Amino acid sequence: MQDQDWRAESLAAQALGWVDTVTQAVAPPIHMSSTFLRTPEYGSERAYIRDQNPAFDQAEALLTKLEGGAAAALFASGMAAATSVFMALKPGDHVIAPQMMYWSLRNWLTGYASEWGLDVTLIDMTDPVAMQAALRPGRTRLVWIETPGNPLWSITDIAACAILAHQAGARLAVDSTVATPVFTQPLALGADLVMHSATKYLNGHSDICAGALVTAQTGAAWDRIVEMRYTLGAIVGSVEAWLLLRGMRSLFPRVRQQAASAAELARRLAVHPAVADVLYPGLPDFPGHDIACRQMQGGFGGMLSIRVKAGTEAAKAVAARVGLWQRATSLGGTESLIEHRASIEGPTSPVPGDLLRLSVGLEDVGDLYDDLDRALSGGNATARILPPR
Ligand SMILES: *Cc1c(COP(=O)(O)O)cnc(C)c1O
Repeated sequence: MQDQDWRAESLAAQALGWVDTVTQAVAPPIHMSSTFLRTPEYGSERAYIRDQNPAFDQAEALLTKLEGGAAAALFASGMAAATSVFMALKPGDHVIAPQMMYWSLRNWLTGYASEWGLDVTLIDMTDPVAMQAALRPGRTRLVWIETPGNPLWSITDIAACAILAHQAGARLAVDSTVATPVFTQPLALGADLVMHSATKYLNGHSDICAGALVTAQTGAAWDRIVEMRYTLGAIVGSVEAWLLLRGMRSLFPRVRQQAASAAELARRLAVHPAVADVLYPGLPDFPGHDIACRQMQGGFGGMLSIRVKAGTEAAKAVAARVGLWQRATSLGGTESLIEHRASIEGPTSPVPGDLLRLSVGLEDVGDLYDDLDRALSGGNATARILPPR
């Protein structure tokens, strides 16, 4: 069988099948060296840790393969990856991004990036008419989308955005953190760049901070982004890169299980008397469900949100009463997380006050439902899992 015949899940499970040539170890060694010996003629395969860390190689190669791209680059965080894309542009360049998106990036775009000279337009990305109206042919350099989008999980049509962006001479970048390469391949749908907060599902164990970009094409635009990483030193450490690769080996079974549990919770919560609405792309009546069916294969992800009928204070009280769900930010780990986003994002947040964001982990789905049900029904706090004394 040719290498390309093995399915992505098989390639991930064996991290592309690398074996250390010195020891025959199936897990890679961690090199901590910050520099590498040069030949007397000053030739060298690697020069310096800041952009030639051997720990990047396998994770970048696997990600390139999983996303069907031409190259990948690991970064210090998802934010480092995303901001490097924007900083590789030039002052005066026009960019379009969603009104509803990962909030730190939205804040950075409307704050620093705008002050430094990027011309930023935020729009409702689920509306192709708004996108058409916002594009300025020849001036718009980049369209940034996030699908499913935080924290309403709204679906943006990647293929349609790619066509519109390319017609205007712009490139399309997709924050695919929530979809993961398991469910969506943005490059195959026409996107130019894929970004991941590898802190989330790719690592999957809530124990590193990392980011990644995968490009459809190498060339001057990609080189500029990689140069940004090098000059800013926006790099992930050797141990983090190693943990990322370790996490990616189990990416497929993890996220499939999380998506299956999220789908079941969405179905059951949709008929819960205390819940006004469940936001989950897998629900047939969710706006964007049809697009999600076209561009997501095999599942709709492990993230959902609920809106609590009794309002903001009741939503906060639910988050205070849960026992098994952990009240914490972030997503994509093995432990299920619940968060009242409006409290976190503050008064400028567009997120409704009655919304609770749920990141579904790998616990028993019946336990997860029962815990939420008790909290939603006004029951006393359930017991947390406590370590034995
Ligand atoms: C967490 C997250 C980011 C930022 O990633 P960091 O690794 O925290 O810097 C960007 N986009 C989405 C969708 C995220 O969930």
